[in-house]
Amino acid sequence: MSRYSAIRTPRFDSPAAWAEILGGYSASTPLTGVKTADVVVIGAGFAGLSAARRLHQIDPALDIAVLDALHIGEGSAGRNSGFMIDLPHDLASDDYAGGGDDRALITLNRQAISFARNAVAEYGIDSAFADPVGKVNGAASKAGDDHNRSYAKHLNGLGEPSEELDAQAMFELTGSRHYRSGLYTPGTLILQPAGYVRGMAEGLRAAGVGIFECSPVTRFEKTGHDWRVTTPKGHITTPRIILANNGHLESFGIAKGRLMQLFLYASMTPDLNADQMKLLGGAPRWGVTPSDPMGTTMRRIDTAQGGNRIITRTCASLRPGMRPSAADVACAARVQQRKFDVRFPQLAGMKMQYEWAGHLCLTLNGVSVTGQVEQGVYSACAQNGLGTARGTLTGIAAAEIAMGQPSKIADHFEAEVAPELLPPQPFATWGANTYLRYKEWRAGAE
Ligand SMILES: Cc1cc2nc3c(=O)[nH]c(=O)nc-3n(C[C@H](O)[C@H](O)[C@H](O)COP(=O)(O)OP(=O)(O)OC[C@H]3O[C@@H](n4cnc5c(N)ncnc54)[C@H](O)[C@@H]3O)c2cc1C
Repeated sequence: MSRYSAIRTPRFDSPAAWAEILGGYSASTPLTGVKTADVVVIGAGFAGLSAARRLHQIDPALDIAVLDALHIGEGSAGRNSGFMIDLPHDLASDDYAGGGDDRALITLNRQAISFARNAVAEYGIDSAFADPVGKVNGAASKAGDDHNRSYAKHLNGLGEPSEELDAQAMFELTGSRHYRSGLYTPGTLILQPAGYVRGMAEGLRAAGVGIFECSPVTRFEKTGHDWRVTTPKGHITTPRIILANNGHLESFGIAKGRLMQLFLYASMTPDLNADQMKLLGGAPRWGVTPSDPMGTTMRRIDTAQGGNRIITRTCASLRPGMRPSAADVACAARVQQRKFDVRFPQLAGMKMQYEWAGHLCLTLNGVSVTGQVEQGVYSACAQNGLGTARGTLTGIAAAEIAMGQPSKIADHFEAEVAPELLPPQPFATWGANTYLRYKEWRAGAE
């Protein structure tokens, strides 16, 4: 094809809390006028910023432009729970154990974590925004205990360390008596996600990369040997485009009918005062993923990360139109309030300051869409849940493929099969949402 037009560009109607608690957005720098670049990256989330960093590493003289429809940190990269996980974390399984080559996956995820940590060091990003503290899988029921045990066995078989925590240890960590046990694994990097992506963008800008916010790409089209990338206020001519725009790849008609547009929901308390913190107890920073992949993720953050707050993440829904409604967010917020109250009866009823939705993109067969789409157009999309690590990897791979730079990361993604076709609509959405409701119900107290 020689012309791709976006039928929609990203828009969120709920706040990106992680950015707001760091003080909102500074003045944006949209693309204006007519420009040229050696590579244009569309999307400034984990994939796009990692692609830009990798391009700059490969050739510091490259003229790179990164365009995002929103402010940095306002998209899903600033709406997640911040767990950059090294281990198998298969959301479709009962206990996260992956079904494929877990050793290879762990090696890849650790390359992503090390890429992120190097960026933090090189760009002087606040270390509180990327904390290598590991995480705990919390179990609140016998079924959760069993999931943790089977996951620990799986990890043991891979030679990966884990540590069982009893109910008292979970209480001392979280201040909650909800958990009867936990499984600690040390390799997760926990992000303040908006702080991290903003730090990446600032570091890249200082290195000479053009970062243009509030610049939705409405189309790109072939002009001679190059592509012309158009936004409302300008355009850039370039020989290479990297699409790092998550599920909005489909908005350009690419991978149509093959991407599941999933929305997850979360909420965040106000900054706790001294009395509330005393009532809460526990450590000032921790991250608990549920032992059942469809359960509830909880995090506690501290002043250095944007205030003493608790974040609750639960509920998921498929929204092929890529716009969850206010009712979706409100419905998830009610569930989150219940989950919060049951875990922290000492703070029960506390009104959340932020409630929001964010977007992730899955494929039926769990592959991403990474590599060449056509001459001069490359993709780094569909992260299948673990977008902090996988997005970093697909961005690195797309940059390497675009520059003809062989690597194991690029080989991994180039060897992936194509994403499977979804069942026809509306059955795909009905079926998936019913299945999600069932899995959420089955996750119960987890
Ligand atoms: C509540 C929640 C919790 C989550 N928790 C975790 C977690 O703990 N760990 C984890 O690994 N993952 C988590 N995720 C998933 C993770 O956030 C995503 O997978 C990740 O953000 C995907 O990265 P990305 O760079 O591919 O896409 P994005 O972060 O979505 O970045 C894509 C960017 O492209 C831009 N864009 C799209 N179309 C255009 C266009 N036409 N023009 C210009 N720009 C465009 C968007 O504005 C966006 O900024 C969570 C998600 C949610 C919603």
